[in-house]
Amino acid sequence: MSSLQVLTPKNNTELAEALKQATPKSKILGGGTDLVILLNKDEIEPDLIIDMTANKELNYIKEEDGDIYIGAITTITEIHDSELINEKARCLAKACEKFGSTQIRNKATIGGNIANASPAGDTLPALKALDAEVSVINSKGEARFLPLGDVLAGPNKNSLNVDEAVIGVKFSAHAKPWISTFAKLGTRTAVTISRISLAVNVVYDEATNTINDAKIALGAVGKAAFRAAKLEEELKGKVVNKELRAKFAEKLSEVIQESIPGRASLPYKKEAIKGVAYQAFEDLFSM
Ligand SMILES: Cc1cc2nc3c(=O)[nH]c(=O)nc-3n(C[C@H](O)[C@H](O)[C@H](O)COP(=O)(O)OP(=O)(O)OC[C@H]3O[C@@H](n4cnc5c(N)ncnc54)[C@H](O)[C@@H]3O)c2cc1C
Repeated sequence: MSSLQVLTPKNNTELAEALKQATPKSKILGGGTDLVILLNKDEIEPDLIIDMTANKELNYIKEEDGDIYIGAITTITEIHDSELINEKARCLAKACEKFGSTQIRNKATIGGNIANASPAGDTLPALKALDAEVSVINSKGEARFLPLGDVLAGPNKNSLNVDEAVIGVKFSAHAKPWISTFAKLGTRTAVTISRISLAVNVVYDEATNTINDAKIALGAVGKAAFRAAKLEEELKGKVVNKELRAKFAEKLSEVIQESIPGRASLPYKKEAIKGVAYQAFEDLFSM
């Protein structure tokens, strides 16, 4: 067995120094809810682990100039409990509500959920529906923002270089008239990995009962969370009623048909998405 080094940088300067030592075998540790399982099963044998959780510079949720910033080691529980997120990025708060168990939510970090790049990662459709950008730092201490879609390289694969780490995520604050939600279907009702997830973020004019803008993202029905751009266009200017709800559900079913053609789960997911769509409409429009 080769030796394992563990580094616990306390700030971003120390993090950049630690990243200088990273090799393709090295691993970055967030809450460990994915990584520790792989370690325990001996599926990975890293030479170096960089533990992010001692770097308290990366634990924050804040709003500046109309943008919301979340640090990489912020936990799912902290995001769920944040008044700011509940008010201005509710779909993300809802995704965190439906995420794993209390124990998992208390440990799992948003940086880990992004970097893990699971097609079923629950924060990812919500972040897509918020047009999120991911903040990445390298071993020179240089930070840059990347669109979330550029970070998600495929199932459980991110596009970061060996000497890079996720340090945060940002998106525009979506206060009213934006309203948003997240709905998911798993194999059980709690502590379940998503089989379908849906984030709906719309500009809703209560006076006219009309949707004026829409950002719709799906998870667990493709290699990575993605936006349903055509459906977004079709929702614009539409009055909210039962017909629209039924059409929304049908259109989502078509999106899934296009996304996973030939997949064994397609017949099930094509039907199941309709229930998820109805859940989202019920939560947003009480219908
Ligand atoms: C019982 C159980 C239930 C679960 N339920 C859900 C669920 O409902 N929804 C869901 O989405 N997930 C779920 N998960 C999966 C897991 O909890 C999430 O993916 C979680 O967000 C991972 O975050 P973490 O901080 O624990 O990451 P870790 O396990 O520490 O790391 C995950 C991966 O990301 C990398 N990484 C971590 N942080 C960074 C960083 N800052 N920069 C670069 N790379 C980094 C690691 O090297 C590793 O490859 C569940 C897991 C378990 C065990």
